[in-house]
Amino acid sequence: MSVSNLLENWSKFRHTHPVEDKGVPDWEAYPSEIKWAMAIDLDACTGCNACSVACYAENNLPVVGKEKYSHGQAMHWMRIERYWDENDGQFVADQGARFLPMMCQQCEAAPCETVCPVGATNHTEDGLNSQIYNRCIGSRYCSANCPYKVRYFNWYDYPSTKDVWPSPLNEQLNPDLTVRGKGVMEKCTFCKQRTYTARNNAKTEGREVKDGDVQTACQEACPAGAISFGNLHDPESRVAKQWQSQQVELAKEKQEKDEKEGNRLRGYRILEELRPYPSVMYLERVRESAV
Ligand code: SF4
Ligand code: SF4
Repeated sequence: MSVSNLLENWSKFRHTHPVEDKGVPDWEAYPSEIKWAMAIDLDACTGCNACSVACYAENNLPVVGKEKYSHGQAMHWMRIERYWDENDGQFVADQGARFLPMMCQQCEAAPCETVCPVGATNHTEDGLNSQIYNRCIGSRYCSANCPYKVRYFNWYDYPSTKDVWPSPLNEQLNPDLTVRGKGVMEKCTFCKQRTYTARNNAKTEGREVKDGDVQTACQEACPAGAISFGNLHDPESRVAKQWQSQQVELAKEKQEKDEKEGNRLRGYRILEELRPYPSVMYLERVRESAV
């Protein structure tokens, strides 16, 4: 049930994250053999939106259209944020925009979990924030408490709403997961259907999950190879190597990050100062010249 899930998660979490927040968490102390995580290289990202489109297709997301979007009824698990450099209050277009794919950050200390009155949002053994749709009562407290604003409320009964998937588009819905009904919250799951399949396959074959067994839909679709995903506990995984070589201590100023051991570390986690301990690390974009 929810309270025991929360207490268990906090106890495990505090065990792996000493209060002083030094560097990469002590994953050796993590009780599960898998800790899923992602790294997104903003230097490679071109803002093409392929990841976002792949997410729609993989996760049966309804396309709500302009009118519903303008009423605040957006439905997308992955959005591409766009930023422009600014100089003396003026936007500078010369170097182009910066892009940042944003989705549920799968926080270890998830602010959305503690406020759910029915325990519909809780924590999994492999370090993910999960959503139990048939328990959700649509209070939307989780959305209000999510600092990243990546939870979406189902305003309509999409499985039966006309023209959301006009025939034959309904034939291409992914059978591995549901189309969510009216009145529940939803969000990115790190393609849970894929991670579970990989774990089950590995178990059947009597082995551990290997790096590359799972690709998220966004990672698979990214033409720039900007997204890595895998098990942080596997030191040979690409994502673990990126976290180990690029991740900086939490709550350090940019200058301090750059000076650390003479390296230019590019890794950071968004709103890390709030201590939600996201499982997504971004790698800063490198610019030839500062504006
Ligand atoms: S990003 Fe938001 S929805 Fe996702 S785990 Fe963190 S607080 Fe919860
Ligand atoms: S698909 Fe890759 S390059 Fe395109 S927006 Fe997504 S992360 Fe960026």
